[in-house]
Amino acid sequence: MATTKIARATRRAFAVHLLAWYEANQRDLPWRRDASDPYRVWIAEILLQQTQVVTAIPYYERFLARFPNVRALASARLDDVLKAWEGAGYYARARNLQRAAQEIVARFDGTIPSTVTELRALPGIGRYTAGAIASIAFHREAAAVDGNAMRVLCRVFAIRHAPRRARTQTELWQLAESLLPRGRAGEFNQALMELGATVCAPRQPACDVCPLARACAARRLGLQAKLPAKTAQRQLPHHHVAIGVIWKGKRLLIARRRDNQLLGGLWEFPGGHRKRGETLAACVAREVREELGIEIAVGEEWATRRHAYSHFRITLHAFDCRWVRGRPRALGCAAWRWVVPDELTQYAFPAANRQLIAKLTQPKSHATR
Ligand code: SF4
Repeated sequence: MATTKIARATRRAFAVHLLAWYEANQRDLPWRRDASDPYRVWIAEILLQQTQVVTAIPYYERFLARFPNVRALASARLDDVLKAWEGAGYYARARNLQRAAQEIVARFDGTIPSTVTELRALPGIGRYTAGAIASIAFHREAAAVDGNAMRVLCRVFAIRHAPRRARTQTELWQLAESLLPRGRAGEFNQALMELGATVCAPRQPACDVCPLARACAARRLGLQAKLPAKTAQRQLPHHHVAIGVIWKGKRLLIARRRDNQLLGGLWEFPGGHRKRGETLAACVAREVREELGIEIAVGEEWATRRHAYSHFRITLHAFDCRWVRGRPRALGCAAWRWVVPDELTQYAFPAANRQLIAKLTQPKSHATR
């Protein structure tokens, strides 16, 4: 459906019903308590990009307590930012938050800009986040279309193309912009997303209590289960990664990933992807030599963990290893440290490594050498 074909009365009714419903039904979420603070809105929106609301709340509160404003975030150590983000995943979000905060301090004297154009020029802020900050915190007439809003729009207006297609995206954003009620864009955007999150769920939408039920084409045509159209799922590649828990006496070797790598800035047990035809044990020894320039003795496979990232899956094989010779050098990593197991919790690790740390720090789980 082309946006221009939606009558003004229909657009007005859409907004009136949606906003009335939102006023009565919105969830009490911490970032809504001070929605005029763009810093809070920004942190919440970045967290919510790939994290469920329930999971995001404690992260949001901890992050705000640790870095209460742009300047505090800009001047923090990256290690501390990543530690505060540890477990939330998609760590590029945390690195970009800090880079953007530094840019805001440098270019805007610490004041978050208010226009979509200025916001989009900052690291990690795309069209959606810019629209959300501009409309919610600065009351700009900007649309913000996340996955929840897309689902509602696809259903109400019976948009049958996959929403991730570029042409469908254009249509959805134009549609959202055409529906914005003057002066209430922030509330409208939040209401649309809230409806998608709580009523117009991916499976079994609660059409009986939906404020848009009368206008909804999917409901009228019985297409709720078919819309939005699904994009064909790709089979994710799977890799075997071998890592070494390398002991030297009572201490363990950890390495920090380079900033330009996936999970950049996080600490990990050294290792990497197994090459074709290589044994896992040989892989650990080679990776450690390449990454840190030391020789190790590779012992038993001590733990195996599976982990899924957005674009691939891994099986992580952790080997019990012993340092043999050489002083570590940061050849393929950003830094390295020898630490005792109790110190591991001071560093930010990816999820798969954290499971190993939990095992390592369990009483009697692992004898030190
Ligand atoms: S009527 Fe049903 S399908 Fe349509 S927007 Fe409401 S909840 Fe979604």
